[in-house]
Amino acid sequence: MNEVQLFLAYAIQLEREAARRYDELRAIMHTAGNAEVAAFFTSMALFARRHLNEAMERGGFHEIPEMDWREFRWPTGMSPEAPSWEGVDAMMDVQAALLLALDGEHRSHVFYSQMHAATQDPEVKRFAGEFAAEEAEHVAELQKWLARAPMAE
Ligand code: ZN
Repeated sequence: MNEVQLFLAYAIQLEREAARRYDELRAIMHTAGNAEVAAFFTSMALFARRHLNEAMERGGFHEIPEMDWREFRWPTGMSPEAPSWEGVDAMMDVQAALLLALDGEHRSHVFYSQMHAATQDPEVKRFAGEFAAEEAEHVAELQKWLARAPMAE
């Protein structure tokens, strides 16, 4: 794998995990009767899958490459912290679900920003920059939803 493919392979893991997590969060909100937030999570899962598909296409992957974050080493020697998602709890309220989603988007943003800063490869730089900008928008969007969410006692 060249540097571009390596970057895209990890981006694929990240976006796949994000999409799965949004599916879980959507189901919880649906069960809780919060159709509005469920619909929002559906659209966020779509964004993650769009990034995933874009990374698959650009990397020329026909199957999802299985990568291990513990072995993540960047050619420049930098090893960013593996983005991880905390567990979803079926009893989560709206605020907790939005906070978990925000945490995930924030970690994605940090990952892409770090890649953008660390790489010497112009293609990785362009991709990571684009993805980082979109994750920053997702972070801002979640903050808006959180500001409107009812506060837990
Ligand atoms: Zn995102």
